[in-house]
Amino acid sequence: MSPPIVLSFGGGTNSVAILVEAVRRGLHIDAILFADTGGEMPETYRYLWELQPWLERHGLPSVTVVRGSFRGGDYTLEEHSLRLQRMPSKAYGRKSCSVRFKIQPQDKWRNSWAPAQEAWARGEKVVSITGYDADEPWRAKHKEDDKYTYSYPLIDWRMGREECAHAIMRAGIALPGKSACFYCPSSRPAEVAKLAASHPDLFGRGLAMEEAAAPTMRGAVRGLGSNFSWRSVGESVRTQAALPIARDIDDDCGCYDGARDADRILAPDYCGSFKSIVPLPRESSADWPLARDWAGTTGPGWLQDDLFGGVA
Ligand code: SF4
Repeated sequence: MSPPIVLSFGGGTNSVAILVEAVRRGLHIDAILFADTGGEMPETYRYLWELQPWLERHGLPSVTVVRGSFRGGDYTLEEHSLRLQRMPSKAYGRKSCSVRFKIQPQDKWRNSWAPAQEAWARGEKVVSITGYDADEPWRAKHKEDDKYTYSYPLIDWRMGREECAHAIMRAGIALPGKSACFYCPSSRPAEVAKLAASHPDLFGRGLAMEEAAAPTMRGAVRGLGSNFSWRSVGESVRTQAALPIARDIDDDCGCYDGARDADRILAPDYCGSFKSIVPLPRESSADWPLARDWAGTTGPGWLQDDLFGGVA
């Protein structure tokens, strides 16, 4: 019996290219895992939904969505950030947001997945596929551990980002957009300005996260963009001034397409310690304001009044 194969599906170009090539090359995949932080772009959620019939037609498993949890319920990174009055850890130069909301939910699911348990009982390892491509071979640093053999087929197939995009187009399916949280601190000023224009509600939610974290900002951290604030981007958009200049932080967030290189030892720093939490606004976690409660709002009042002339 061959070991089970599970794909960490990030919802972006690389992981869709793996699916397309898996079909073309006859690579078997047993499970496709998507870790939903609760803050993906609406286009990503729609893409996932529309991908399902294609998967079914080609004999691939449906996408299994896993989420972060707290006190037995689903828990989003946005809730977590608002509750702790902290921005996603990427804003502070760390990666524990992806550990807590992407890697750990997938680990938890795989640990209780029967084919994985059976393989481990037989002394075998589960094959974990990640979508690093041939343009970024240095990221494929994990080869195996006690439970997994890590596989990077795009590197083996010598497919860089461009080849991935071509493979998807050749398969006749739409290219996915960038897959990341809409409030990701890795977003550049131009991307934030684009979000403000295309999704003012999401931009407002990002501003709300930034405002909530204002009391805990220190040193070079100026806002949700790490070294620039989203508020400054909003003001630039309104006055048509130049966008803030931002020093480059990492080019990507480290968790696109199922990346696992986030430093696990950082996780407790942001996600495991609740020393700095703000008081719970309501009786139980089930009653906390969920991300969906923010949908359709424009965030802080000044945004609605000042920046977009009441655009909702
Ligand atoms: S996309 Fe950005 S904000 Fe979301 S988990 Fe990854 S690093 Fe954190």
